[in-house]
Amino acid sequence: MAKKLGRKSTRKTNRAAALRTVSKARTANRGPSTRSGSSRATSRDEPRTAKNAKYVYLFGRKTDGNGSMKPLLGGKGANLAEMCRIGLPVPPGFTITTEVCTYYYDNKRSSPPALRGQMEAGVASIEQQTGKKFGDLKNPLLVSVRSGARDSMPGMMDTILNLGLNDQTVEALAAKTSNPRFAWDCYRRFVQMYGDVVLGVQKAAGEDHEPFEMVIEGLKHERHHQDIEDTKLTVDDLKELVVRFKKLVKERAGKQFPDSPWDQLLGAVGAVFGSWMNDRAIVYRRKYNIPSEWGTAVNVQAMVYGNTGDESGSGVAFTRNPANGVKEFYGEFLINAQGEDVVAGVRTPEPVAQLKKEMPKAYAELERIRQTLEKHFKDMQDFEFTIEDGVVYMLQTRNGKRTAMAALKISIDMQKEKLIDWKVAIQRNPADQLEQLLAPVFDAAEVAKARAIATGLPAGPGAASGKIYLNADRAVVAEDKGEKVLLVRIETSPEDLRGMIAAEGILTARGGVSSHAALVARQMGKVCVCGAAALEVDYQARTVKVDGKTFKEGDWMSIDGTVGKVFAGQVKTAPSEIVAGLIHGDEAARKTEKFKNFQQLMKWCSDATRMYVRTNADTPEQAANAVAFGAVGIGLTRTEHMFFEGNRIDAMREMILAETVEERKAALAKLLPYQREDFAGIFRALKGYPATIRFLDPPLHEFLPHTKEQQEELGKKIGVPAARIHQRVEQLHEFNPMLGFRGCRLGIGYPEISAMQARAVFEAAAIVQKEGIKVRPEIMIPLVGFKKEFDLQIDVVHQAARDVEAEKKVKLSYMVGTMIEIPRGALTADEIAQTAEFFSFGTNDLTQTGLGMSRDDSGSFLPHYQELEIVKKNPFASIDATGVGQLVEIAVKKGRGARANLKLGICGEHGGDPSSIQFFEKVGLDYVSCSPYRVPVARLAAAQAALAAKVRD
Ligand code: PEP
Ligand code: MG
Repeated sequence: MAKKLGRKSTRKTNRAAALRTVSKARTANRGPSTRSGSSRATSRDEPRTAKNAKYVYLFGRKTDGNGSMKPLLGGKGANLAEMCRIGLPVPPGFTITTEVCTYYYDNKRSSPPALRGQMEAGVASIEQQTGKKFGDLKNPLLVSVRSGARDSMPGMMDTILNLGLNDQTVEALAAKTSNPRFAWDCYRRFVQMYGDVVLGVQKAAGEDHEPFEMVIEGLKHERHHQDIEDTKLTVDDLKELVVRFKKLVKERAGKQFPDSPWDQLLGAVGAVFGSWMNDRAIVYRRKYNIPSEWGTAVNVQAMVYGNTGDESGSGVAFTRNPANGVKEFYGEFLINAQGEDVVAGVRTPEPVAQLKKEMPKAYAELERIRQTLEKHFKDMQDFEFTIEDGVVYMLQTRNGKRTAMAALKISIDMQKEKLIDWKVAIQRNPADQLEQLLAPVFDAAEVAKARAIATGLPAGPGAASGKIYLNADRAVVAEDKGEKVLLVRIETSPEDLRGMIAAEGILTARGGVSSHAALVARQMGKVCVCGAAALEVDYQARTVKVDGKTFKEGDWMSIDGTVGKVFAGQVKTAPSEIVAGLIHGDEAARKTEKFKNFQQLMKWCSDATRMYVRTNADTPEQAANAVAFGAVGIGLTRTEHMFFEGNRIDAMREMILAETVEERKAALAKLLPYQREDFAGIFRALKGYPATIRFLDPPLHEFLPHTKEQQEELGKKIGVPAARIHQRVEQLHEFNPMLGFRGCRLGIGYPEISAMQARAVFEAAAIVQKEGIKVRPEIMIPLVGFKKEFDLQIDVVHQAARDVEAEKKVKLSYMVGTMIEIPRGALTADEIAQTAEFFSFGTNDLTQTGLGMSRDDSGSFLPHYQELEIVKKNPFASIDATGVGQLVEIAVKKGRGARANLKLGICGEHGGDPSSIQFFEKVGLDYVSCSPYRVPVARLAAAQAALAAKVRD
């Protein structure tokens, strides 16, 4: 049953395998290739190595860039510039452009000669604005060095703070601030970050903790005999940490820690460029389809300090709640800490509302900034701030990542607030996230019975149950075996990405709503609870102690990421309000805000869309569900799926085993009532919408039993000797069944099969029509490559229609068309369209035959192809627009040339894929067809594609 039954899993398996194997594909020496035509500020004619090329853009009192320059300055750099322009308090600095990253990889990891001079001018400008000097022994300037890609890649690349410190400048900083603790805290952080990022001192395979953290823990226990907070470390402890850190660097990296601030700066800039090609950044880019050609920019900025004492702190905040979209000032901060502490999840921060009590002035300033940001950027912002001795500074702002639920609420609310119009609101909902809204929640009755064992922060909404695993690799292995997995960690880091992808949900013991776990989960649409402090996670023993019980790896837990609860065992899930409201007609669900917002969005989509959306459905229930989701018809009924139910398979097998036409007709007569009943049910469920019904398509041997025992059993059932069954199976054996006796070739070989199917359709139509329901069958002949193939089948269909019309005394309205799913069909579409009234692109087979790549076997090599970027995405999931897409375009042109009103649709897997839908909009198809639960996604993607097309015009 390879063709029909084994197919569905291909997509997921490929993706999981691709992500797993990526670590092997150390493409470390490849980088962004030379680009042309991107929106560069420099002239295109100018060679990039020219002396006058501008590599450094200042921000601060004088600002060179602006928010529209993301390709060149990266998201962070462009928005820092924009914030300066609107008068927000940003420490001065400069951005090194993404072009330098390109240069770096094109030139054996070196920088353009002109860069150094421009960086010196940049540093001089910061010095002038701050009154501090880089490397100065009185008032030293320290800088941060951060990556900044065009699209934010949270936690994927590297950051270095407090750069410029050495054994001398640290003393100067201590004297200048009269705060030796602060100065030494900065220094130890700097050595730690620089050691990790630039000198590569990181945890080795098999280690669960960072080596620097181990040193800190060791010192705490040695000197304080317990795990005290970092803020309790004394100046002497910090000095000792610097010594031990440097020793660790010498041992692990084999070199001395650099003292010269300029050596430090150049090393850091190189490391940020280098981090563009680190493993986790590659995995991330692949998942989110970020081209490696983009490269990253580097931002060098004057440090402001959140760790000077109790009037200082660092925080991350959102202008609205990114988990559920509520309009509230949402975020968290840590007193006396630098920004990295907040996002690293090492200390659990306090909610930002707490600042109102602790630093009311700073809070008021942040509230003002929050409003300014939303007014200016007209979108929910995720920003980082530092408070230094009571003064607020902005370090970054970007459009905040959000869950699908938050995206929906924010888009609808902002439209109501007149910040954006309804078309923008549509675009604010990422189509491939929308499915999250349909994800199940815990069954309320089950939750009431379940034992809550801990609470944490609701970081990623939804309900998830799984066997717990405490390590990403083991989680991946378990998922591979088909287990449902819950990844449980003290806190996650980017190394855990693969495990997070494999898991149903993520649970951490530490970290706040902006911790790595929360951020990434939100983006992936994973259910996540973080900062569940009651969990005692023991990596060595592979256990989680909580609520007086010890859970081992493999034990079940359940988490509710909407409210932040953790439960023992497996808790049953229930459908989301949207599914409950639409599919189950649950009145209470229909009254929820989520349901109403969803319906509003879908209504806007209907107003904006040009293409309409149908569904691939084989049963009345599937058809009804799809209609409830807004499908306006069936784009594909695979009739063979109907033959697998109950005893039908026996009649089907009898038909295949028949030796004469009479025998075959007798077996087909048994199948006819089943088909008629199915079609009638489907027509009723469609309530007048059209149904494209495809005739038998798969190779016949897929229906036959293959083992001796099965053959004997069937023989007994239908009264045929097992030997005959065996012989027929042998006869039907094909070396390449997908290119063999299938599709219309079956109907041409055995016209009586098509005749039975056509009769079943028309008899069902006659019955349902008499019930007062409009019926619009569209009969579709598969795998047509020659006009004559189609014509032979069309005759059979018309004959059946005439017969049924005469017998039942009805007038039937129907169409006959074909699938375009092999290249010859596409290339001769003008001929086929002379008799075909519609085409539906079978992009699964068209991809298979167009690429000469088996849809069932490509899993063995496609992941490697993706690693090597031979194909950017799995072509069976997302249309290969440049190759297979041409076949579609040719068929559209030729088909419409021959028949102007030719109806055109697509029913392959690509019909539910947002980026493929964009392509189908461009080539002018009339509709896309996809599985019922993808219908909302396809409606949104089609509306977005139509809006984008209008902008292009
Ligand atoms: C196709 O080939 O795209 C198609 C929809 O048909 P099937 O997947 O049943 O071969
Ligand atoms: Mg096909």
